[in-house]
Amino acid sequence: MADVLVLVDHQGGKVRKTTAELLTIARRLGEPSSVFVGDNVDGAKDILARYGSAKIYHSGAAELGEFLVVPQAELLAQLVEQTRPAAVLIPSTPEGKEVAARLAVKTGSALVTDAVDVQGEDGKVVTTQSVFAGSYTVRSTGTTGTVVVTVKPNSAPPQQQPAQSELVAVDFTPSDLARTARITASKPKEKSGRPELTEAAIVVSGGRGTGGDFSKVEDFADSLGAAVGASRAAVDAGWYPHTSQVGQTGKQVSPQLYVACGISGAIQHRAGMQTSKTIVAVNKDEEAPIFELVDFGVVGDLFSVLPQATEQVKGR
Ligand code: FAD
Repeated sequence: MADVLVLVDHQGGKVRKTTAELLTIARRLGEPSSVFVGDNVDGAKDILARYGSAKIYHSGAAELGEFLVVPQAELLAQLVEQTRPAAVLIPSTPEGKEVAARLAVKTGSALVTDAVDVQGEDGKVVTTQSVFAGSYTVRSTGTTGTVVVTVKPNSAPPQQQPAQSELVAVDFTPSDLARTARITASKPKEKSGRPELTEAAIVVSGGRGTGGDFSKVEDFADSLGAAVGASRAAVDAGWYPHTSQVGQTGKQVSPQLYVACGISGAIQHRAGMQTSKTIVAVNKDEEAPIFELVDFGVVGDLFSVLPQATEQVKGR
Protein backbone atom coordinates (compact mmCIF):
# COMPACT_ATOMS: atom_id res chain seq x y z
CA MET A 1 0.00 0.00 0.00
CA ALA A 2 1.34 3.45 -0.90
CA ASP A 3 2.39 5.84 1.83
CA VAL A 4 0.37 8.96 2.46
CA LEU A 5 2.36 11.68 4.19
CA VAL A 6 0.70 13.92 6.77
CA LEU A 7 2.47 17.08 7.97
CA VAL A 8 1.94 17.21 11.72
CA ASP A 9 0.48 20.44 13.11
CA HIS A 10 1.68 20.81 16.68
CA GLN A 11 3.03 23.17 19.27
CA GLY A 12 6.01 21.82 21.19
CA GLY A 13 4.89 18.24 20.57
CA LYS A 14 1.25 18.89 21.52
CA VAL A 15 -0.55 17.64 18.41
CA ARG A 16 -3.54 19.62 17.14
CA LYS A 17 -6.83 17.92 16.33
CA THR A 18 -6.42 18.67 12.60
CA THR A 19 -3.59 16.14 12.47
CA ALA A 20 -5.86 13.38 13.81
CA GLU A 21 -8.36 14.36 11.11
CA LEU A 22 -5.70 14.23 8.40
CA LEU A 23 -4.50 10.82 9.56
CA THR A 24 -8.10 9.58 9.45
CA ILE A 25 -8.41 10.85 5.87
CA ALA A 26 -5.00 9.46 4.93
CA ARG A 27 -6.13 5.95 5.88
CA ARG A 28 -8.70 6.12 3.05
CA LEU A 29 -5.88 6.63 0.55
CA GLY A 30 -3.11 4.33 1.77
CA GLU A 31 -0.83 3.83 4.74
CA PRO A 32 -0.46 7.06 6.70
CA SER A 33 2.92 8.29 7.87
CA SER A 34 3.53 11.51 9.73
CA VAL A 35 6.16 14.13 9.12
CA PHE A 36 7.08 15.88 12.35
CA VAL A 37 9.18 19.02 12.36
CA GLY A 38 10.33 20.81 15.49
CA ASP A 39 10.99 19.66 19.03
CA ASN A 40 9.51 16.90 21.17
CA VAL A 41 8.62 14.18 18.69
CA ASP A 42 8.45 11.81 21.67
CA GLY A 43 5.58 13.87 23.08
CA ALA A 44 3.66 13.45 19.83
CA LYS A 45 4.33 9.76 19.23
CA ASP A 46 1.43 8.29 21.22
CA ILE A 47 -1.28 10.33 19.61
CA LEU A 48 0.13 9.82 16.11
CA ALA A 49 0.21 6.06 16.74
CA ARG A 50 -3.35 6.14 18.03
CA TYR A 51 -4.56 7.56 14.71
CA GLY A 52 -2.71 4.99 12.62
CA SER A 53 0.60 6.60 11.69
CA ALA A 54 2.87 3.75 10.58
CA LYS A 55 6.05 5.83 10.47
CA ILE A 56 6.88 9.14 12.04
CA TYR A 57 9.54 10.89 9.99
CA HIS A 58 11.40 13.56 11.92
CA SER A 59 14.54 15.58 11.65
CA GLY A 60 16.53 17.42 14.25
CA ALA A 61 17.79 20.08 11.81
CA ALA A 62 17.84 23.39 13.66
CA GLU A 63 16.32 25.19 10.66
CA LEU A 64 13.16 23.14 11.11
CA GLY A 65 12.13 25.16 14.12
CA GLU A 66 8.48 26.06 14.20
CA PHE A 67 7.11 28.42 11.55
CA LEU A 68 9.96 28.09 9.04
CA VAL A 69 8.20 27.10 5.87
CA VAL A 70 11.13 26.82 3.43
CA PRO A 71 12.96 24.00 5.23
CA GLN A 72 9.66 22.24 5.91
CA ALA A 73 8.91 22.25 2.17
CA GLU A 74 12.43 20.99 1.45
CA LEU A 75 12.13 18.16 3.98
CA LEU A 76 8.78 17.10 2.53
CA ALA A 77 10.18 17.27 -1.03
CA GLN A 78 13.04 15.01 0.04
CA LEU A 79 10.57 12.53 1.59
CA VAL A 80 8.37 12.61 -1.53
CA GLU A 81 11.46 11.76 -3.58
CA GLN A 82 12.42 8.93 -1.22
CA THR A 83 9.03 7.37 -0.46
CA ARG A 84 6.92 8.20 -3.55
CA PRO A 85 3.70 8.63 -1.54
CA ALA A 86 0.21 8.63 -3.05
CA ALA A 87 -0.47 12.06 -1.56
CA VAL A 88 0.75 14.62 0.94
CA LEU A 89 -1.89 16.05 3.29
CA ILE A 90 -1.25 19.37 5.01
CA PRO A 91 -3.52 21.41 7.30
CA SER A 92 -5.16 24.38 5.56
CA THR A 93 -3.55 27.04 7.69
CA PRO A 94 -1.77 30.07 6.19
CA GLU A 95 1.54 28.38 7.03
CA GLY A 96 0.35 25.01 5.70
CA LYS A 97 -0.69 26.53 2.38
CA GLU A 98 2.68 28.23 2.04
CA VAL A 99 4.46 24.92 2.65
CA ALA A 100 2.10 23.09 0.27
CA ALA A 101 2.60 25.55 -2.58
CA ARG A 102 6.38 25.37 -2.28
CA LEU A 103 6.29 21.59 -2.08
CA ALA A 104 4.09 21.33 -5.18
CA VAL A 105 6.48 23.55 -7.16
CA LYS A 106 9.55 21.65 -5.94
CA THR A 107 8.11 18.24 -6.84
CA GLY A 108 6.20 19.30 -9.99
CA SER A 109 2.98 18.12 -8.38
CA ALA A 110 -0.70 18.97 -8.52
CA LEU A 111 -1.87 21.15 -5.65
CA VAL A 112 -5.36 21.43 -4.20
CA THR A 113 -5.98 23.90 -1.38
CA ASP A 114 -8.84 24.14 1.11
CA ALA A 115 -10.26 20.70 0.40
CA VAL A 116 -13.31 19.82 2.49
CA ASP A 117 -13.21 16.16 1.54
CA VAL A 118 -10.61 13.74 0.18
CA GLN A 119 -11.45 10.25 -1.00
CA GLY A 120 -9.62 7.45 -2.76
CA GLU A 121 -11.46 6.31 -5.91
CA ASP A 122 -10.02 3.69 -8.29
CA GLY A 123 -6.54 4.35 -6.95
CA LYS A 124 -6.89 8.11 -7.48
CA VAL A 125 -7.03 10.90 -4.94
CA VAL A 126 -10.29 12.80 -5.41
CA THR A 127 -10.67 16.10 -3.59
CA THR A 128 -13.73 18.28 -2.99
CA GLN A 129 -13.59 22.05 -2.59
CA SER A 130 -16.33 24.58 -1.90
CA VAL A 131 -15.64 27.65 -4.10
CA PHE A 132 -17.06 31.07 -5.10
CA ALA A 133 -18.56 31.78 -1.70
CA GLY A 134 -19.90 28.24 -1.57
CA SER A 135 -21.85 28.58 -4.84
CA TYR A 136 -20.08 25.62 -6.42
CA THR A 137 -18.58 22.35 -5.28
CA VAL A 138 -15.52 21.26 -7.25
CA ARG A 139 -14.30 17.67 -7.39
CA SER A 140 -10.78 17.29 -8.74
CA THR A 141 -8.26 14.57 -9.41
CA GLY A 142 -4.61 15.54 -9.53
CA THR A 143 -2.85 13.98 -12.51
CA THR A 144 0.68 15.32 -12.07
CA GLY A 145 3.27 14.17 -9.59
CA THR A 146 2.30 13.45 -5.97
CA VAL A 147 -0.97 15.17 -5.16
CA VAL A 148 -0.46 17.82 -2.46
CA VAL A 149 -3.68 18.68 -0.64
CA THR A 150 -4.35 21.20 2.10
CA VAL A 151 -7.40 20.11 4.07
CA LYS A 152 -9.66 22.45 6.04
CA PRO A 153 -10.09 21.75 9.72
CA ASN A 154 -13.10 19.64 10.72
CA SER A 155 -13.38 18.02 7.29
CA ALA A 156 -13.54 14.56 8.87
CA PRO A 157 -14.30 13.39 12.39
CA PRO A 158 -11.07 11.92 13.77
CA GLN A 159 -11.27 8.15 14.21
CA GLN A 160 -8.69 6.14 16.09
CA GLN A 161 -7.03 3.10 14.56
CA PRO A 162 -3.95 2.31 16.60
CA ALA A 163 -0.77 1.31 14.78
CA GLN A 164 2.75 0.36 15.80
CA SER A 165 4.45 3.63 15.00
CA GLU A 166 8.11 3.66 14.10
CA LEU A 167 10.21 6.78 14.59
CA VAL A 168 12.36 7.38 11.51
CA ALA A 169 15.09 10.00 11.79
CA VAL A 170 15.57 11.69 8.42
CA ASP A 171 19.02 12.68 7.29
CA PHE A 172 18.19 16.18 6.09
CA THR A 173 20.37 19.15 5.31
CA PRO A 174 18.52 22.34 4.45
CA SER A 175 19.70 24.33 1.42
CA ASP A 176 21.42 27.70 1.78
CA LEU A 177 18.13 29.29 0.74
CA ALA A 178 16.34 27.64 3.63
CA ARG A 179 18.93 29.06 5.98
CA THR A 180 18.56 32.61 4.72
CA ALA A 181 14.91 33.04 3.65
CA ARG A 182 13.00 32.99 6.89
CA ILE A 183 9.33 33.26 6.12
CA THR A 184 7.32 33.05 9.28
CA ALA A 185 3.66 32.85 10.04
CA SER A 186 2.51 33.67 13.53
CA LYS A 187 0.03 31.21 14.94
CA PRO A 188 -3.05 32.64 16.58
CA LYS A 189 -2.93 32.67 20.34
CA GLU A 190 -6.31 32.17 21.92
CA LYS A 191 -6.25 34.03 25.22
CA SER A 192 -9.80 33.25 26.30
CA GLY A 193 -9.17 29.55 26.86
CA ARG A 194 -11.68 28.79 24.10
CA PRO A 195 -10.67 26.64 21.14
CA GLU A 196 -9.23 28.31 18.06
CA LEU A 197 -12.05 29.32 15.70
CA THR A 198 -11.01 27.32 12.63
CA GLU A 199 -10.21 24.22 14.68
CA ALA A 200 -13.22 24.13 16.98
CA ALA A 201 -15.73 21.30 16.70
CA ILE A 202 -18.48 23.74 17.74
CA VAL A 203 -18.73 27.43 16.85
CA VAL A 204 -21.32 29.83 18.26
CA SER A 205 -21.44 33.14 16.37
CA GLY A 206 -23.14 36.42 17.08
CA GLY A 207 -24.27 39.09 14.66
CA ARG A 208 -25.90 42.50 14.60
CA GLY A 209 -28.80 40.95 16.51
CA THR A 210 -26.66 40.92 19.64
CA GLY A 211 -26.77 44.71 19.65
CA GLY A 212 -23.16 44.57 20.83
CA ASP A 213 -23.80 42.39 23.89
CA PHE A 214 -21.99 39.09 23.24
CA SER A 215 -22.34 37.84 26.82
CA LYS A 216 -25.18 35.41 26.05
CA VAL A 217 -23.36 34.13 22.96
CA GLU A 218 -20.18 33.62 25.01
CA ASP A 219 -22.03 31.91 27.88
CA PHE A 220 -23.66 29.49 25.48
CA ALA A 221 -20.35 28.88 23.68
CA ASP A 222 -18.60 28.16 26.99
CA SER A 223 -21.29 25.71 28.07
CA LEU A 224 -20.54 23.74 24.88
CA GLY A 225 -16.76 24.21 24.92
CA ALA A 226 -17.15 26.11 21.65
CA ALA A 227 -15.29 28.90 19.89
CA VAL A 228 -16.99 32.27 19.41
CA GLY A 229 -17.38 33.75 15.94
CA ALA A 230 -18.96 36.95 14.66
CA SER A 231 -20.54 38.36 11.52
CA ARG A 232 -18.87 41.22 9.75
CA ALA A 233 -21.60 43.59 10.90
CA ALA A 234 -20.69 42.80 14.52
CA VAL A 235 -16.98 43.08 13.84
CA ASP A 236 -17.26 46.33 11.86
CA ALA A 237 -19.28 47.81 14.71
CA GLY A 238 -16.30 47.10 16.99
CA TRP A 239 -18.27 44.63 19.11
CA TYR A 240 -15.95 41.70 18.54
CA PRO A 241 -12.36 41.29 17.27
CA HIS A 242 -11.72 41.06 13.52
CA THR A 243 -9.93 37.75 14.12
CA SER A 244 -13.34 36.27 14.98
CA GLN A 245 -15.05 37.24 11.73
CA VAL A 246 -16.59 34.31 9.87
CA GLY A 247 -17.24 34.65 6.16
CA GLN A 248 -15.91 35.41 2.73
CA THR A 249 -13.54 38.07 4.01
CA GLY A 250 -13.09 36.45 7.40
CA LYS A 251 -12.33 32.92 8.51
CA GLN A 252 -13.79 29.82 6.96
CA VAL A 253 -15.02 27.35 9.50
CA SER A 254 -16.42 23.88 9.05
CA PRO A 255 -17.29 22.61 12.53
CA GLN A 256 -19.53 19.71 13.49
CA LEU A 257 -22.01 22.28 14.84
CA TYR A 258 -22.41 25.97 13.91
CA VAL A 259 -24.89 28.12 15.82
CA ALA A 260 -25.70 31.51 14.26
CA CYS A 261 -27.27 33.94 16.72
CA GLY A 262 -28.79 37.18 15.45
CA ILE A 263 -27.20 36.69 12.03
CA SER A 264 -29.32 37.18 8.91
CA GLY A 265 -27.41 34.75 6.68
CA ALA A 266 -25.96 37.01 3.96
CA ILE A 267 -24.16 35.16 1.17
CA GLN A 268 -20.80 36.49 2.36
CA HIS A 269 -21.39 35.07 5.84
CA ARG A 270 -22.56 31.73 4.45
CA ALA A 271 -19.35 31.46 2.45
CA GLY A 272 -17.48 31.00 5.70
CA MET A 273 -19.72 28.48 7.45
CA GLN A 274 -22.02 26.62 5.10
CA THR A 275 -19.87 23.49 5.01
CA SER A 276 -20.53 23.04 8.74
CA LYS A 277 -22.00 19.62 9.42
CA THR A 278 -25.02 20.81 11.42
CA ILE A 279 -26.26 24.41 11.34
CA VAL A 280 -28.57 25.96 13.90
CA ALA A 281 -29.87 29.53 13.86
CA VAL A 282 -31.54 31.68 16.46
CA ASN A 283 -33.23 34.67 14.85
CA LYS A 284 -36.32 36.63 15.77
CA ASP A 285 -37.27 37.12 12.10
CA GLU A 286 -38.78 33.92 10.71
CA GLU A 287 -38.12 35.26 7.17
CA ALA A 288 -34.36 35.60 7.78
CA PRO A 289 -32.40 33.97 4.91
CA ILE A 290 -30.30 31.96 7.39
CA PHE A 291 -33.31 29.69 7.90
CA GLU A 292 -32.96 28.46 4.27
CA LEU A 293 -29.68 26.91 5.29
CA VAL A 294 -30.24 25.48 8.73
CA ASP A 295 -30.81 21.98 10.03
CA PHE A 296 -32.57 23.42 13.08
CA GLY A 297 -33.98 26.90 13.49
CA VAL A 298 -35.30 28.73 16.52
CA VAL A 299 -37.48 31.78 15.87
CA GLY A 300 -37.00 33.90 18.93
CA ASP A 301 -35.05 36.56 20.75
CA LEU A 302 -31.50 35.37 21.37
CA PHE A 303 -31.49 37.08 24.77
CA SER A 304 -34.27 34.77 25.85
CA VAL A 305 -33.36 31.62 23.88
CA LEU A 306 -29.63 31.42 24.61
CA PRO A 307 -29.81 31.58 28.44
CA GLN A 308 -32.37 28.75 28.39
CA ALA A 309 -30.18 26.71 26.05
CA THR A 310 -27.13 27.39 28.24
CA GLU A 311 -28.99 26.24 31.32
CA GLN A 312 -30.11 23.06 29.58
CA VAL A 313 -26.58 22.22 28.45
CA LYS A 314 -25.09 22.93 31.88
CA GLY A 315 -27.74 20.75 33.51
CA ARG A 316 -26.64 17.66 31.58
P1 FAD B 1 -27.86 41.75 9.74
O1 FAD B 1 -27.90 41.38 8.31
O2 FAD B 1 -28.26 43.14 10.11
O3 FAD B 1 -28.78 40.71 10.50
C1 FAD B 1 -29.06 40.77 11.86
C2 FAD B 1 -30.07 39.69 12.15
O4 FAD B 1 -30.29 39.62 13.54
C3 FAD B 1 -31.44 39.90 11.50
O5 FAD B 1 -31.77 38.75 10.74
C4 FAD B 1 -32.37 40.10 12.67
O6 FAD B 1 -33.65 39.52 12.44
C5 FAD B 1 -31.66 39.37 13.77
N1 FAD B 1 -31.95 39.85 15.12
C6 FAD B 1 -31.99 41.13 15.55
N2 FAD B 1 -32.20 41.16 16.88
C7 FAD B 1 -32.29 39.88 17.30
C8 FAD B 1 -32.49 39.26 18.56
N3 FAD B 1 -32.62 40.00 19.67
N4 FAD B 1 -32.55 37.92 18.62
C9 FAD B 1 -32.42 37.16 17.50
N5 FAD B 1 -32.23 37.69 16.28
C10 FAD B 1 -32.14 39.04 16.18
N6 FAD B 1 -20.36 39.36 6.39
C11 FAD B 1 -19.89 38.40 7.19
O7 FAD B 1 -20.53 38.00 8.17
N7 FAD B 1 -18.66 37.86 6.93
C12 FAD B 1 -17.89 38.24 5.89
O8 FAD B 1 -16.77 37.73 5.71
C13 FAD B 1 -18.40 39.25 5.02
N8 FAD B 1 -17.68 39.65 3.94
C14 FAD B 1 -18.23 40.57 3.11
C15 FAD B 1 -17.55 40.92 1.93
C16 FAD B 1 -18.10 41.84 1.06
C17 FAD B 1 -17.35 42.19 -0.18
C18 FAD B 1 -19.35 42.42 1.36
C19 FAD B 1 -19.96 43.41 0.42
C20 FAD B 1 -20.03 42.09 2.49
C21 FAD B 1 -19.48 41.18 3.39
N9 FAD B 1 -20.15 40.81 4.56
C22 FAD B 1 -19.65 39.81 5.32
C23 FAD B 1 -21.34 41.54 5.03
C24 FAD B 1 -22.63 40.82 4.73
O9 FAD B 1 -23.10 41.20 3.44
C25 FAD B 1 -23.71 41.22 5.75
O10 FAD B 1 -23.85 42.61 5.75
C26 FAD B 1 -23.40 40.78 7.18
O11 FAD B 1 -23.09 39.40 7.18
C27 FAD B 1 -24.62 41.02 8.05
O12 FAD B 1 -24.31 40.68 9.37
P2 FAD B 1 -25.50 40.26 10.36
O13 FAD B 1 -26.18 39.07 9.81
O14 FAD B 1 -24.91 40.17 11.71
O15 FAD B 1 -26.43 41.54 10.36
